[in-house]
Amino acid sequence: MKIKFGFFISLILAVGLVAAPFSCQAPKEEGEEKAPSDSAWELLQELVLIPGVSTHEEEVVDFIQARLPSETKVQRDEMDNLWFSVGKGSPHLVFVAHTDETGLEVKEITSQGTLKVKGRGGFFPQMYEGYPVVVYTKNGEVEGVMAPRSHYHQRNSSPPSFQWEDMEIDLGVENEHKARALGVGVGDPVTIKKKIVHLQSDLIATRAVDDRAGCAAILAAARRIDGDEIEGKKVTFLWDVQEEIGLYGARHMAQKLDADFVFPVDTFVSSDAPLDNKRFAYLPLGKGAVLRGIDSSNIAPQRWRQKVIEIAEAHHIPLQRGNTRGGNDGSVFVPQGAVDIPLSWPGVYSHTFIEKIHRQDLENLTRLIVALAKDWE
Ligand SMILES: [Zn+2]
Repeated sequence: MKIKFGFFISLILAVGLVAAPFSCQAPKEEGEEKAPSDSAWELLQELVLIPGVSTHEEEVVDFIQARLPSETKVQRDEMDNLWFSVGKGSPHLVFVAHTDETGLEVKEITSQGTLKVKGRGGFFPQMYEGYPVVVYTKNGEVEGVMAPRSHYHQRNSSPPSFQWEDMEIDLGVENEHKARALGVGVGDPVTIKKKIVHLQSDLIATRAVDDRAGCAAILAAARRIDGDEIEGKKVTFLWDVQEEIGLYGARHMAQKLDADFVFPVDTFVSSDAPLDNKRFAYLPLGKGAVLRGIDSSNIAPQRWRQKVIEIAEAHHIPLQRGNTRGGNDGSVFVPQGAVDIPLSWPGVYSHTFIEKIHRQDLENLTRLIVALAKDWE
């Protein structure tokens, strides 16, 4: 989701990631296949560690496809949009989450063996300065560091902010030939070196919660629904691509799916952060799933918002309601005649390396998707 909240980001860099315990990419035993989990929380913690920079989502889509119920008639198009439907008739409900994350792409390999990059999706270059990164090459992962600028240590010189053109990845090699010998090529995706920070009381902070949490919630919900239970309507579960660079996957699928109601499942940028002003978009973490009334791209009609609220109450699902900024994938289904009703979890530190989410909110969001898929008529 496109975000314009620059002011609180740099503050996060200052206080961010020092003390908390963390876990990295857990090495799997050779040939050990973990039984797919129905827990959105467990699926989330696997999904956020998989690279999926916009236009490079295939590994994330492979992971989701491999965990769909075996009898599912899944479809996957040339863009890597993935979907399947249960039930038939109308209304036609579509639950959608995006598999891509913001990140970088190799633009040039310099004669010194360093990499120049370009951004993919709305992000803040200054977040990367001095951070470890991973380049996903044809030969596998190659680690590097985002070189800080020469004057980074002159605190009081307040240099102009770090721009894309200032970015240079140091791989520890001294020329282009050696960089290429590692398998690096122009166009390779690059992310921060991913790790999950386990905070207190069912909270984690990490990269790509936006929108792997939506992907995990829809996947867990799809695994809990028996297709035969869906009668008198059609329900489609969709994982689309390229949301962060212009909703291209959603635009493509909006033409194909003929939806009556679309439920994009994506982050709600809450101001439940220590340094934020609470007068706008304040929905506390841990207090329930979110029904997003108004955002920068859509106003969900009161009549249908009321229906979501009633179904949530009928299932005793804690539901918060709020308005926020940013767009959502459902907005491009509206010109095709669909009603856009965005569902979310309260998230903070959006588009940083420490997006924060609460376990209960994700679980309640998953329960809400199951309830809507079954009860909506
Ligand atoms: Zn998003």
